[in-house]
Amino acid sequence: MTVAQTDVPEQLEFKTELKQLLELITHSLYTKKEIFLRELISNAADAIDKLRFESLKDPSLAEGDTDWKIKLIPDEKAGTLTVSDNGSGMTRQEIIENLGTIARSGTRAFLETLKQANAQQRPELIGQFGVGFYSSFMAADRVTVISRSARKDEPAVRWESDGAGTFTTAPAEKASRGTDVILHLREDAKEFLSPWKLREIVKRYSDYIEHPIVMDVEKGKEGEKTVEEETLNSRQAIWLRPKSQIKEEEYAEFYKQISRDDEPPLKTIHIAAEGAMEFRALLFLPAKRGYDWMAGPEKKSSIDLYVRRVLITHDCEEVIPQYFRFVKGVVDSADLPLNVSRETLQHNPLLAKIKSNLVNRILKTLEETKDGEYDKYKTFYAEFGSYLKEGAGQDWSNRDRLADLLLFESTKTAAGEFTTLSKYVQAMPADQKEIYYLIGESRAMIENSPYLESFKAKAQEVLLLTDPVDEFLVSSMRQYKDKPLHAVDRGDIEADKEVQEKQKAEAEQFKTLFEKLTGYVPEVKEVRLTGRLKESAAVLVADEGAMGAHMERLLGRMGRGHEIPPSKRILELNPDHPLVKAMQTIAAGGDDPRLQTYARVLYDLAVIAEGSRVQDPGDFARRVNELLVHDAEARVSQK
Ligand code: ADP
Repeated sequence: MTVAQTDVPEQLEFKTELKQLLELITHSLYTKKEIFLRELISNAADAIDKLRFESLKDPSLAEGDTDWKIKLIPDEKAGTLTVSDNGSGMTRQEIIENLGTIARSGTRAFLETLKQANAQQRPELIGQFGVGFYSSFMAADRVTVISRSARKDEPAVRWESDGAGTFTTAPAEKASRGTDVILHLREDAKEFLSPWKLREIVKRYSDYIEHPIVMDVEKGKEGEKTVEEETLNSRQAIWLRPKSQIKEEEYAEFYKQISRDDEPPLKTIHIAAEGAMEFRALLFLPAKRGYDWMAGPEKKSSIDLYVRRVLITHDCEEVIPQYFRFVKGVVDSADLPLNVSRETLQHNPLLAKIKSNLVNRILKTLEETKDGEYDKYKTFYAEFGSYLKEGAGQDWSNRDRLADLLLFESTKTAAGEFTTLSKYVQAMPADQKEIYYLIGESRAMIENSPYLESFKAKAQEVLLLTDPVDEFLVSSMRQYKDKPLHAVDRGDIEADKEVQEKQKAEAEQFKTLFEKLTGYVPEVKEVRLTGRLKESAAVLVADEGAMGAHMERLLGRMGRGHEIPPSKRILELNPDHPLVKAMQTIAAGGDDPRLQTYARVLYDLAVIAEGSRVQDPGDFARRVNELLVHDAEARVSQK
């Protein structure tokens, strides 16, 4: 975009999504509009961090003015509150890009949620999603931004908007580098002119900010008043203080500031590593998933990296594995050079060490919670279990520890109760070599599945997996310790020698039925006998390596079914079932058209039991109807 440099303000439109967002912000009932100040202060601090970081390499950028600060200027007469910083500032081009569009990809989804939420929930949601600068419009009916970039050849610029669809930019006068955000406060937001109110908000939300947040206050008695600059924040980096001196509430407050989460964290991990490697870390396990997952592709990390209190980068991916991206916090290293470039973080051996240290501590905390506070762990697991599964599938070096943190329902647990892989293995009979599982959409859908019949008869436990990531978990984990994971609807279930011999002999007897069925049910690749079933007559199974029915349905629902042709199933028959025996007798007696009806209905019932949909419901209904009529007539004629 090229911008004409004239003195006349130029009017530009906000991007569509931003317009809608602003509309919702300005028309929400504001129970918590004060969060705008947290957002503006955090932007100001970011702008300072950015310039400070850049000026480490090029000191001329800061022009010797490194008295970093953020100033609040309430102006009773004008009815304005100004948040001023001496950070990086913005050029005209930057201001148009930064304050005219909203770059975050999850905005559309977020907007939908906002629209559906009631007015009282909205500010909460807005706060959690972090609409940043735009939250100013919760308190102001007009916002003016005057900014001058740290780059010397750039003139100052004035940006202004009432948040209703358009904004203007114009050249401006500004003596020093940085940004002033001037809020023209609404009638119902005049409280933000009050110094004590501002003090209170800064304490609550921005106390730990490293740069001083200052405000001019009048001191002294009537007649001899002087104006003094007061620093409102304590500027204490909580992670550098000794653990013993920090109260639970202080941790909770800091967590709130960095996470925007209203609930206190489930667990706090404060690490002070000394000796060979010196670093501090303050990590939090949230109690609930926030709303950041709605913001399109999830962040790959929620850890900020500092070097001796200087922020190097937000959301640092080098200090935490992706599957722990829900862990929030900060890491502060004393060993990294201050001018470490963001590009070289990737291959930094020091960070790799910090990372493995953090993983170890997080795992240990989770293990202790699981063993010592099981109920707490269960609520955590309901929110974040799928992340642990992702880890168990990916992180080979910690696979066993992650696997031991997983909880599963099984045929031996009540609904909502869990077992673990280790408990499962301990309870396994001596001759069982594999861990059995069945995957499906819900417990209700699979717990009466015919695939479980023989296991139930033998009182053998089967894990019931109903989380969408379970398919990924079992296919990447493959085994737990030395025990392979085996889907009961796939491949062969190991039978003992005796049973195998018996099946071989029976297969001979059912030969004619197999041949006929292969003709009537061309959908299957093979017909064979099984020991899997007790009450049911037939069941469909996938090949050992093939995709299971559940996975096929998942892909189908994602609109990707066409990419992978469904694998042909094997139709397995229960040789002890009266229907199967009768069908063999009919088959042996020559051609009987009813055999086709039996075969088709038998197959369709197996499709239903698998949890899939019958291909031709009309045909199925007609055939079942025909059988019912026949059965009913037979009963009547017997009387
Ligand atoms: P976020 O801070 O989440 O990126 P915002 O909407 O709050 O979103 O701000 C958008 C962008 O505007 C920021 O990323 C930053 O580039 C720029 N910006 C906002 N406030 C300032 C400021 N005080 N100084 C310099 N740049 C700023």
